[in-house]
Amino acid sequence: MRTQVGIIGAGPAGLLLSRLLALQGIDSVVLENRSREYVEARIRAGILEQHTVDTLTAAGVGDRLQRQGLEHRGIHLQYPGTRHTLDFPELCGRTVWVYGQTEVTKDLIRAQLDGGPPLLFEVSDVRPEDVDGDTPRVRFTDADGVPQVLECDVVAGTDGFHGPSRAVVQEAGGRLWERTYPYAWLGILADAAPATDELIYAWHPEGFALYSMRSPTVSRLYLQVDPSERIEDWSDERIWDALDTRMALEGWSVNRGPVTEKSILPMRSFVSAPMRRGRLFLAGDAAHIVPPTGAKGLNLAVADVTLLAQALVRLLQEKETDLVDSYSDRALARVWRCTHFSWWMTSMLHRSGDDFDAQLQLSQLRRVCSSEAAARELAENYTGLPLEL
Ligand SMILES: Cc1cc2nc3c(=O)[nH]c(=O)nc-3n(C[C@H](O)[C@H](O)[C@H](O)COP(=O)(O)OP(=O)(O)OC[C@H]3O[C@@H](n4cnc5c(N)ncnc54)[C@H](O)[C@@H]3O)c2cc1C
Repeated sequence: MRTQVGIIGAGPAGLLLSRLLALQGIDSVVLENRSREYVEARIRAGILEQHTVDTLTAAGVGDRLQRQGLEHRGIHLQYPGTRHTLDFPELCGRTVWVYGQTEVTKDLIRAQLDGGPPLLFEVSDVRPEDVDGDTPRVRFTDADGVPQVLECDVVAGTDGFHGPSRAVVQEAGGRLWERTYPYAWLGILADAAPATDELIYAWHPEGFALYSMRSPTVSRLYLQVDPSERIEDWSDERIWDALDTRMALEGWSVNRGPVTEKSILPMRSFVSAPMRRGRLFLAGDAAHIVPPTGAKGLNLAVADVTLLAQALVRLLQEKETDLVDSYSDRALARVWRCTHFSWWMTSMLHRSGDDFDAQLQLSQLRRVCSSEAAARELAENYTGLPLEL
């Protein structure tokens, strides 16, 4: 098999990269180790920045997003006794959209299978090779158990945190930074109409809680829990009671409904640099992870592949190396900005440490809720900074 760009991983990063390249006349093959059903059902992110919406729309996969996505004009920040609204258009002229990552993935897969580049599910033993030369390849075993070799000009490692690509880059030297947080998120999906117009980020002495939504009839809610908690120990009743306590506000209540999914998500920040070795380029969670508090993971993956697609078009069509040579530095500038913002939101809202820490958090929250400059800083970062910083 031969293609111009071998793409490992059919998450949002790999699928969108393939789509952006195809629109510029560049061939690719996407290799995914899971089944289509598994990839489409994976519940993850749900907030899209404006640049993500614009990129998906320009790539011709924004129709359903435009019809079913919910435009959100702000967030509510809450601490006991106070719920304060940040109005994003007023603060920075931008908005965000609620549209599940599952839906983004379904739209991209449908477009890919409808005449797009090859997308092979359920492959195994995927390994990029000879990435330091001009003729790299990807070895893998196809769904029928037959060993295959994909010869390429370039390999894109969009295989998420657990994929094989990052290790190949790091073998040639590089650096990793990691911060594991002393708490996790217990997330539920519930068939219940959201009781709020905007997401609510709530600080509470018993821990952080987040009220978000996926549609006018489906709510997505989170509770800060200890990372050692077991989901079996959290009955639906216990979860709803904790949400009621942490989100309590006079005259308002959480809407309950059947819980259709629940899981516990560890929280970490992780950055791997550089994002390139020879002809192997990393993008998305393969190179970096942020805690979900700032809603940045999916948006960063989209930003990376937007930069990478431009760089690969220039390399493969114009034989110019300037954009691929600067790709890692340009992508990492944005990665670190989002890493800082996600860490800052996480540190401000999650209970840890002692009462002194709690007072510092409350002071920071009051500052964001009372100073236009502080609120604008949050709004600009939350709604998405320019692609190139
Ligand atoms: C449980 C969870 C909840 C999250 N919630 C949020 C949230 O609320 N908000 C937010 O902004 N972000 C959230 N994120 C982060 C966000 O979902 C990711 O940043 C986003 O999925 C990154 O996309 P990606 O394409 O880079 O990686 P992924 O979506 O991880 O895609 C990588 C793909 O590569 C495939 N792959 C892996 N190994 C191999 C291999 N050996 N061979 C072939 N294919 C392989 C995987 O199966 C997967 O399909 C969450 C992440 C997780 C794990």
